Amino acid sequence: MQTRKVDILVIGAGMAGLSFARTMQQHGRDVLILERSRAVGGRCATWRHAGLALDYGVPFLHARSPLFWQSVDELLGADVLPGWPQRVQGHGPTCQPRALDPGVRHAALRGGLNTLSKKLAEGLEIVRESEVTSIQTLQGSFQLSGANFSLSTQTLVLAAANAESLRLLKDSDFGTAIAGAMALFGLAPTLPTLSLLACYETPPTQPDWELLLPETSTSIQLISNESSKNAAGQKLGLCIQAQPAWSRQRLDSPAEAWTRDLLRETALLLGDWVMEPDWQRPHRWLEARLDSASRLRGPLVQNIAGCKLGIIGEYFNPAGGLEGAFLSGRQLADLLKETT
Ligand SMILES: Cc1cc2nc3c(=O)[nH]c(=O)nc-3n(C[C@H](O)[C@H](O)[C@H](O)COP(=O)(O)OP(=O)(O)OC[C@H]3O[C@@H](n4cnc5c(N)ncnc54)[C@H](O)[C@@H]3O)c2cc1C
Repeated sequence: MQTRKVDILVIGAGMAGLSFARTMQQHGRDVLILERSRAVGGRCATWRHAGLALDYGVPFLHARSPLFWQSVDELLGADVLPGWPQRVQGHGPTCQPRALDPGVRHAALRGGLNTLSKKLAEGLEIVRESEVTSIQTLQGSFQLSGANFSLSTQTLVLAAANAESLRLLKDSDFGTAIAGAMALFGLAPTLPTLSLLACYETPPTQPDWELLLPETSTSIQLISNESSKNAAGQKLGLCIQAQPAWSRQRLDSPAEAWTRDLLRETALLLGDWVMEPDWQRPHRWLEARLDSASRLRGPLVQNIAGCKLGIIGEYFNPAGGLEGAFLSGRQLADLLKETT
């Protein structure tokens, strides 16, 4: 297989990788992104069903950063639903503890949150369904390979979720040279989430909330009323997200078992009719979000055998979550545009 040489290579087309690549491209640099999935966006994930856009990863945008909102407003303007969720029921914790604090702007997107990733991806070179399985160094370059590609670069950016980045680094031939950086990853374990999308064509009633945060449930973290983000008519789309500890205990169970349990618990909150959705789709997030309030102040940049390695993602910016992922990409672009 012939090895293609690339100016800057990014692993992962999630929020971090996309914001980095877009900024570098605006600075006139050639960037190639390798993405394992068919879709871009990673955990900023939307499923389309029967005319509804259903978010089953991060449920809404929340951020204090003007830089973040400037990009959202520029790219999506009229599709921003400002203030979503305005009607919140219950006092349980949100996924990110301070998501709905005063001073934090929050919003949903009419076409689903994934439209933000798609907009960021426009004009970027992204090779999809290309999982990087190995990174090695050879003659002053990083050599990356997967099932059907081999690429080399002197500037590599890791923008995968923490455990995946750590696995790639551990298996590389320069792991010992960056043992300190790898130890930092170990300080940031990620939490799993089981999520379930459930749609009802003609529900007997419509919830009068956009986000439900049940404080007494032992299994449910939140339920988002996805159809309240769309012009859905009568249809109701819910995303039920399970609590991390409950999810962890069931990661290896058949989906039928835990989806039934989640629907049963939802029925206690909304009524028995929720037990029979017209359509449902379960999803296991092995790494949904970080279990740590302590995050790094910015991206990691390491010099390895004359090459540059940058590491970004939600752990590499104090804001954390989606905002932190986006900002870490911008920060790294600002650092690398000066030095490479
Ligand atoms: C259910 C759920 C709820 C959440 N709730 C919130 C919330 O309320 N607020 C909040 O701020 N955040 C929330 N998050 C977390 C938020 O979604 C993430 O912090 C953010 O999306 C991380 O972006 P990222 O670019 O760092 O990583 P990702 O989105 O994980 O992107 C990494 C990308 O790299 C790709 N990849 C991985 N390995 C490889 C490989 N070897 N080769 C090629 N490609 C690879 C993946 O396919 C993926 O597309 C939630 C997440 C989930 C799943």
